[in-house]
Amino acid sequence: MTAAADVDVVVVGAGLAGLVAARDLVAGGAEVVVLEARDRVGGRTLTLPAADGTPIDHGGQWIGPTQDRVAALAQTLGVTTFATWDRGLHTEFRDGRAHRFDGGFPASDPGTAVAMGVAIRELDAMAATVPPEAPWSADQAPAWDAQTVESWLQARVAAEGARTWLRTAVRSTLAAEAGELSLLHALFVIRGAGGLAQLLETAGGAQERRFHQGAQTISIRLAEALGERVVLGAPVSVVRHDAGGVVVEAPGRDCAARRAILAIPPALAGRLAYRPALPGWRSQLTQRVPMGSVVKVHALYDEPFWRRHGLSGLVVSDRGPVEVVYDNSPEGGSPGVLVGFVEGQHARDFSRLAPADRRQAVLDGLVGFFGEAAGRPRELLERAWADEEYSGGCFAGYFPPGVWTSYGRALREPIGRLHWAGTETATVWNSYMDGAVRSGERAAAEVLAALGRG
Ligand SMILES: Cc1cc2nc3c(=O)[nH]c(=O)nc-3n(C[C@H](O)[C@H](O)[C@H](O)COP(=O)(O)OP(=O)(O)OC[C@H]3O[C@@H](n4cnc5c(N)ncnc54)[C@H](O)[C@@H]3O)c2cc1C
Repeated sequence: MTAAADVDVVVVGAGLAGLVAARDLVAGGAEVVVLEARDRVGGRTLTLPAADGTPIDHGGQWIGPTQDRVAALAQTLGVTTFATWDRGLHTEFRDGRAHRFDGGFPASDPGTAVAMGVAIRELDAMAATVPPEAPWSADQAPAWDAQTVESWLQARVAAEGARTWLRTAVRSTLAAEAGELSLLHALFVIRGAGGLAQLLETAGGAQERRFHQGAQTISIRLAEALGERVVLGAPVSVVRHDAGGVVVEAPGRDCAARRAILAIPPALAGRLAYRPALPGWRSQLTQRVPMGSVVKVHALYDEPFWRRHGLSGLVVSDRGPVEVVYDNSPEGGSPGVLVGFVEGQHARDFSRLAPADRRQAVLDGLVGFFGEAAGRPRELLERAWADEEYSGGCFAGYFPPGVWTSYGRALREPIGRLHWAGTETATVWNSYMDGAVRSGERAAAEVLAALGRG
């Protein structure tokens, strides 16, 4: 098929996974080209300046304990972190009223808090039995993969208030409805994080720290070091592969290589044409791992006025569209920034509204949580990730019922000279930046070994 390879490895996608894979391959002595569809690197991380220059993370932003690979990478690149602001009382917005609470779970109804604690302990105990490398091999995998998180909630959690907050927790971690998610998938993600509390908490959890310079800076610095090996504006559409090598086709930029790493989510990998076509079990996997639905909104104020009222800025709300909020101000506290998440079905409904109605819906929510001052931000920004052609949604691809047990083995398994990376292939912190970094490291090691350089 190919006369001679241009390079040893072509990497498709310059998100964290692809760039980390490229860095490790270069360190291992391989010649590499990275083809990136967008005119920027970083994929699902995107840091843009607000009107006053404040860096705003429209995509991934937080890291926390045990996310060691992304933390080590950031440190190597001089991308520094600070603690997320979480001092003061949190806000539970329920039945149209704001209740303030301290620590732990929303507790305006004590029965709800107790029921949530019981449910979380039960989920953690189940998750502990799920092998991260092979969730389909858990003893209970057939039963857990045959039901949704919603059916589990209805069977096991009697208190409606607790079910409501657990549904919110599911949307805020996996950006899908409890009724769309395989219970086994949720348990696999919980296992990879070390527990549900680790996923939900600020201090001690996945929302513990932020990057001063913004999360995309990690990818930008990785790409700078890779130099001309990274080609922007190169959307790959065709992958030709045989025993002799791989040719990856992007408009105006075909690239022949000995091996390829596709560092893109399964749903996007499924859009490419493969010649010859991939085996049905791989093709069908990519038909079954949809992307989650998230709109991330930022409201900027002259100062974080909520702090003066003793509030942390953290909100969980039983009403959309914005149902989770954090204080996202820079470390110095100026300007005041609130970040709100619109997730799952809320995101789908919200995206169909006219811009003025979306703005009003966000402001109505913020006023309900924090009072009138919240209705007058100096800037309001939103990013709908489902609209992004080369993401297709966020935070990540998720597994509906039946997919892990029927197709899970296909997720990382190389096909000839094609290897797979991206956070969706991670065994630990799957769906998160840390999982993306780990997947890039794993794929690079796999390819270096195949090239005889491992
Ligand atoms: C709103 C939001 C909030 C998030 N919050 C957090 C958080 O706080 N903490 C956290 O850890 N994670 C968070 N995440 C998830 C995190 O951002 C992702 O897990 C991670 O960035 C995924 O990296 P990746 O390299 O696997 O994939 P991507 O970043 O998606 O990279 C894939 C790359 O491939 C490119 N590409 C796609 N198709 C093609 C093609 N055909 N040809 C060439 N290139 C192609 C894309 O443009 C992209 O650059 C969030 C994500 C979003 C969107």
